[in-house]
Amino acid sequence: MYNIAMQESAVNLLQRIYGYDHFRGEQEAIIDAVVAGRDALVLMPTGGGKSLCYQLPGLIRDGVAVIISPLIALMQDQVNAMKQLGVPAAFLNSSLSMAQQTGIEHALRAGEIQLLYLAPERLLQQRTLGLLESLTVALFAIDEAHCVSQWGHDFRQDYLGLNLLHERFPDVPRIALTATADRRTREEIIQRLELSGAALFVSGFDRPNIRYAIATKTSPRSQLQAFLEYRQHEAGIVYCLSRKKVEDTAAWLSTKGYKALPYHAGLSAQLRETNQNRFLREEAVIIVATIAFGMGIDKPDVRFVAHLDLPKSIEAYYQETGRAGRDGEPAEAWMVYGLQDVVRLQQMQAGSDAPEQFKRAERHKLDAMLGLCEVTSCRRQVLLNYFDEEDHPPCGNCDNCQIPPKTWDATEAVQKLLSCVYRTGQRFGAVYVVDVLRGKDSDKVQQNNHQQLSTFGIGAELSEAQWRSIARQLVVRGLLAVDVEGYGALQLTDRSRPILRGEQTLELRKDELKPKSGGKKSRRSKRDIAPEHEALWQALRACRTRLAAENNVPPYVIFSDDTLQAMLADRPMSRMELLAIHGVGEKKLDNFGSDFIEVICQHTEVVQG
Ligand code: ADP
Ligand code: ZN
Repeated sequence: MYNIAMQESAVNLLQRIYGYDHFRGEQEAIIDAVVAGRDALVLMPTGGGKSLCYQLPGLIRDGVAVIISPLIALMQDQVNAMKQLGVPAAFLNSSLSMAQQTGIEHALRAGEIQLLYLAPERLLQQRTLGLLESLTVALFAIDEAHCVSQWGHDFRQDYLGLNLLHERFPDVPRIALTATADRRTREEIIQRLELSGAALFVSGFDRPNIRYAIATKTSPRSQLQAFLEYRQHEAGIVYCLSRKKVEDTAAWLSTKGYKALPYHAGLSAQLRETNQNRFLREEAVIIVATIAFGMGIDKPDVRFVAHLDLPKSIEAYYQETGRAGRDGEPAEAWMVYGLQDVVRLQQMQAGSDAPEQFKRAERHKLDAMLGLCEVTSCRRQVLLNYFDEEDHPPCGNCDNCQIPPKTWDATEAVQKLLSCVYRTGQRFGAVYVVDVLRGKDSDKVQQNNHQQLSTFGIGAELSEAQWRSIARQLVVRGLLAVDVEGYGALQLTDRSRPILRGEQTLELRKDELKPKSGGKKSRRSKRDIAPEHEALWQALRACRTRLAAENNVPPYVIFSDDTLQAMLADRPMSRMELLAIHGVGEKKLDNFGSDFIEVICQHTEVVQG
């Protein structure tokens, strides 16, 4: 039996294999529980370090650790990353030839593999279950465990079958992990995977290194361009709702000099794979994508996630933005949204033929999302409250904390808008109502004879954008409804009346309506390399790029930016010194140490003259 770690303590392994000196948060407690044979449910934010929680027990416990993960496309990278650390790992999926599969099965029987990655559908095949029953299984890790939940947003039918593990392998500990779990999802995971006896580890959901900013959509492209102005050297994701918009935006960004690639379910599998690989392997690639992109992407140095359209729930928003900054370095979650987004999502929901109860849940989630967009206090507090974390002070790292939005007494403007909706018969969308308010003498206005209305032209003092901002806020607050079955006509609600009658006043948010340039990079933005270190920094990166290509892995699998940065600061020139650097373990020292030492020596001699 091949086992690289039995008898060795977890913290030793952490240092020897990964080159890290201490555990983060609850990692150690989780590892201890699983090593002792207990089931565990781990809720930890993205970037918290979930992988170690099953990898280390997998090395310490006897037998092979089986990791169930929904995306076969990414297994190869995970396995390669483990191999770079000197850990024998493999995956079984349909991309392998028959001969390769037999080879892996043989290696498994010989006890030569310590981590085995499987998609759930593969695991549930009789052949696989039979194979596993003939082996010693160290543990089952169920990654992205929220996929078992129908209440959640990534439901996968195959995950439901995983409760069978409990029956077929009663003595093997199971560890389920996820980054998204509000209380209901969490309960569903426990129930469906039969984890009621499991040790529960809930880490805080906060991602303090991510800065949240949400602006009113005025001219999305110039807004995006302003946001990206100082980000030519950064990798990021831009999310759009439709495939067409994905392609248009990617093409447009390319003309602006960005390395922008499209990704959506309508592209060929081959092109999707190419674009995903370029995103993982090259530097500073922007992926423009629908939500089809991202699950399981564990690229640590994504510096921003931008939304050009509104996600339909806070869970979705938090998971998508959570793909930024897994390495813990400053990262940006940026979004523009407008009235049209609200109307579109409400219409999509109304048009679906889902059961009423489901629709109600969806509406509730959208309302929470809109609340996040409109809030004038700290956004992080809203996000964390949603995940039942209630005691956080204002964060200082969101747009509202940094530039508190102004509010104004909008009562009179709101009265004008509401009466204009009423006078035009509650049959028109916001664009038309605003035309009437501003006294625009268009053909359509003429046709309807609306230039005769008492509300025609009573709102000339505000711009179109300002009126749209007011309309949006009224819709979000339920003071106006959108006729979702029809053409998005605005209609009054019960709540409109007190304001129309002058019984209630209303403060609204004053939206910033001109695109601000991204301006100076965000406060704690990217590491700045001192000019005298620039040459070595570039040389270290070039060395990393070359080794990554030679080993067919992404650059960060060789060493993270953090590790290169530490080399820059400490200039290790011997193996001993290099081993002391964060992120340098035994195996990587052997494989890459001399290359980096050589680069450092060359550059250091030059500096010393
Ligand atoms: P998650 O799956 O929770 O999103 P990962 O397991 O991918 O997070 O870990 C995120 C990053 O943090 C990885 O680069 C990982 O190597 C690193 N990491 C994890 N645990 C530690 C630790 N104890 N010390 C230093 N870095 C760590
Ligand atoms: Zn804040």
